Amino acid sequence: MQVNPLAFLDDELAALRERHLYRPLRVMSSAQGPIVSLDDRRVISLSSNDYLGLSHHPRMKRAAIEAVEQYGAGSGAVRTIAGTMTVHEALEADLAAFKHVEAVLTFQSGFACNTGVIPTITGETDLIVSDELNHASIIDGMRLSKAPRKVFKHADMASLREVLADATEHGRDGSGEPYRLILVVTDGVFSMDGDIAPLAEIVEVAEAFGAAVMVDDAHASGVLGEAGRGSVNHFGLDGRVAIQVGTLSKAVGVLGGYVAGSQALRDILIQRARPFLFSTSHPPSVAASCREAIRIMQEEPELHDRLWSNTRRFKAELGRLGFDIGHSETPITPVILGDSETTIRFSDRLFDEGVFATSVVFPTVALDRARIRTIVTAAHTDELLDRALEAFDRVGRELGVIAG
Ligand code: PMP
Repeated sequence: MQVNPLAFLDDELAALRERHLYRPLRVMSSAQGPIVSLDDRRVISLSSNDYLGLSHHPRMKRAAIEAVEQYGAGSGAVRTIAGTMTVHEALEADLAAFKHVEAVLTFQSGFACNTGVIPTITGETDLIVSDELNHASIIDGMRLSKAPRKVFKHADMASLREVLADATEHGRDGSGEPYRLILVVTDGVFSMDGDIAPLAEIVEVAEAFGAAVMVDDAHASGVLGEAGRGSVNHFGLDGRVAIQVGTLSKAVGVLGGYVAGSQALRDILIQRARPFLFSTSHPPSVAASCREAIRIMQEEPELHDRLWSNTRRFKAELGRLGFDIGHSETPITPVILGDSETTIRFSDRLFDEGVFATSVVFPTVALDRARIRTIVTAAHTDELLDRALEAFDRVGRELGVIAG
């Protein structure tokens, strides 16, 4: 008799389905954008991270095509062997100037940045202090490090101060020996609630205890700060944050991540960061269209303005309809409905009404804080937002979420 050694996977899948936690993939047959073809339906999308609409911007496509013509489809090797092209170096120089830092190193994704940088710069003699709601890639980066870690309550400065006071008073393993490095790590924008980290306070508290700050700006890149320079620039903290991680996969519209900081940080990452050393570099077209995105962000400020006017309008209208939209300060607007079943039904009904907005349920968020997560972009027209709001109104009344 043949035994299937992976039979336990069927049981796990059945358990997920039973708890309504199984998530089938919806397949998109169009380009990304404010209207997409999903599972053979044309729907208004409120679910991409394409904040500025750059994924399909004509200048971005042209930059990619020209790079393919000039350099080919792939880079052919990891960067330390034969995969560093002029276009990779040029993108990093552009990003360093844009971010007002000494040097930048790009990685294959924002996720790879965090799993690359954290274990490279921390070890047994260091301490990592992390916001409790930090992104999965920061958590995985910490797991790969030999450094001990402590967690502070989300965006809570009293809690951060307490952790740092304890660490500096008692030292490594309570021995009184000081840590070589204490690294405070936070998301710049938290992707489930859309709130902005209180970075000015975090930096102040960290400086008081001699700790360094690392901010993961995935959802702030292209969104916050002058021309989308990120949360450090947004708070006027240029030069006071040791490590900024950004993504090239969301507002920048392509794929990748970067670590921005000192020249020494870049140099050590090139020598030691494992995703950099052991995984092939971006195709040249990716680097070329990322360069074009940095130019567009500075040359077409109307995209940034439109993102924020759409954001203000959408939030105001959802609030006026009577929905609980939490405390987001960014284009991420959660529509908090409470229990998972209503939320999943709400998302399905919106889809029937021609609007794609995904549900986020336990364990990603607390059991009673299930929500529809929406993101408006610069590419949404007034008419599309009106249609989306009408669908929210209809489904909200039908399911008794808002007064009918
Ligand atoms: N960090 C944060 C805070 C994120 O939200 C994300 C994307 N969900 C990432 C890192 C990963 O970025 P990328 O998609 O470029 O891997």
